Amino acid sequence: MLFTEDFLHYVWKFRLFDRTELQTTTGEAIEVYSAGLHNTDSGPDFHNARLKIGDTTWAGNVELHLSSSDWQKHNHATDDAYNNVILHVVYRDDVPLVLTDGRRVPTLELKDRIPAELYSRYHTLVFGNQTIIPCEKSIRTVDDFTLRTWFTRILIERLEKRAEAVSQALQTNRGDWEETFYQSLAANFGFKVNALPFELMAKSLPQNILAKHKNNPQQIEALVFGQAGFLNDDFEDVYPQQLKTEYQFLQKKYSLKPIETHLWKFMRLRPQNFPTIRLAQFAALIVNSNHLLSKVLDTRDVAGLRNLFADIKINPYWEDHFRFGKPSKSSSKNLGAASIDVLVLNTLVLFLFSYGKHHQLQHFMDRSLKLLESLPGEQNNIIADFDVLGIKATSAFESQALLELKNYYCNYKKCLQCSVGNKILKTA
Ligand code: SF4
Repeated sequence: MLFTEDFLHYVWKFRLFDRTELQTTTGEAIEVYSAGLHNTDSGPDFHNARLKIGDTTWAGNVELHLSSSDWQKHNHATDDAYNNVILHVVYRDDVPLVLTDGRRVPTLELKDRIPAELYSRYHTLVFGNQTIIPCEKSIRTVDDFTLRTWFTRILIERLEKRAEAVSQALQTNRGDWEETFYQSLAANFGFKVNALPFELMAKSLPQNILAKHKNNPQQIEALVFGQAGFLNDDFEDVYPQQLKTEYQFLQKKYSLKPIETHLWKFMRLRPQNFPTIRLAQFAALIVNSNHLLSKVLDTRDVAGLRNLFADIKINPYWEDHFRFGKPSKSSSKNLGAASIDVLVLNTLVLFLFSYGKHHQLQHFMDRSLKLLESLPGEQNNIIADFDVLGIKATSAFESQALLELKNYYCNYKKCLQCSVGNKILKTA
C-alpha cells in the first residue's frame, strides 16, 4: 500500500498514533504536549511544538519524513532553518540522523504505532476506486453539523479568493469601486462564454464617458455596440445605421478603440444568450441605473437585488432580431429570472462581501452569506453529482460551497485537509 508524507503529517498533527511508552530511537522517553502548528510554507513541517524528551522540556520545530535518510536527500543538513528542529518524526528509521556538528537529532519512528485500521481507511478513501469523488461511499455517513460547518468554511474561502481578485481590480482602477463593479458586472453579463470580450468592452468604455450620455439611450447603445466591434458592417436596417453614425461621431470625440469582434462567441449558444442580446440588455441597464453599487450596498434582501434588474427594457429592434440585419420571430428579450439570479450571485453578492472585507465591515459580509442562503442553488454537473451522492444543495450557499469543495479539494484528493475526510477517517 502507498504511504504518503501527507498521511504522516496528518497522523502527527492529530496525534493518531499509539502514544504508550513513546521513545526516541535511542530509548529516551517522549511526551508530546503539543504537536505544533502545521507549516505549509518552506521550513520545518510543524512550528512551536512542545515536548518532553528525557527530563528536558522543549519548545520548537518538528520535521517529518517517510525515512530518516530523507533529511540528507532534502538537503536539510546545509539549511540553517532546520538547526533548531527538536524532533525528527519518521515512518521508518533507516539511518541515524547525525548533524555535521556531531549532534544527534532525537528521532521518533512511527512505523509500528499507526493503527492499521486508520491506514486502511485512509488508503480506501484516497486511493480506492471512484466515479465521482474519493469519499463517495462514505460522505453520506457524515453528520449534518460537520457538513454544514465545513461548507461555511469553504464558502468563505471561496468568497475570500474572489474578493482578492476584486481587490486587485480595484487597485488597477485606482480605488474606484463603481468602475470596478461596472467592469465585473459586464464580465458576468457575458455568462462565462463571452465574459472576456464583455469585460474588455467595459474596460475600453469607462463609466465617465457613459455618464455624459445617460439621457440619450441611443448614444449609450451606440457606444456599447460600437466598442464591442459590432458596428463595422454596412447595414440596411435603420436602427444599426443610426447606431453606426452615432458611434462614428462619439468614437472620434473620445478617441475610442473598439475590441476585436472575433472574440465574441455565438456558437452553441441559445439565441436568447447571443452577445448582441446581452449587450442590448447591458446598455439598457446602464441607461436605467445610476450608482448601482451604492444601491446594492443599501439593499437588504434578494427581492430588492433582483428589482435592480427589473423593468429594464431593451430597444424594440431586438424584439424581432437576435443579430443586426437578421429578422426573427418576435419574442421578449428582457433579462429572465434565472439570468438575474446569476448576476445577483456572481456580482452583487460578491461585491457586498468584497466591500465588507476591504473596509472591515462585518455586517456586509454577514449579509452576503444570508443572501446566498436565500438564493436558489445553481444547476450544473457538479451539483447533480453531489445530488446522486445524497448531498443536496438547497441554496446558492450550499451549491457554491460544493463547487469549491469539488474543484479545490476533491479533485486534488485533499481529503486530509477536509472536515469530511477527517470525520470519515476518525470514525471507528
Ligand atoms: S476532499 Fe473531502 S469531500 Fe472531497 S473526496 Fe475528499 S473527503 Fe470527500
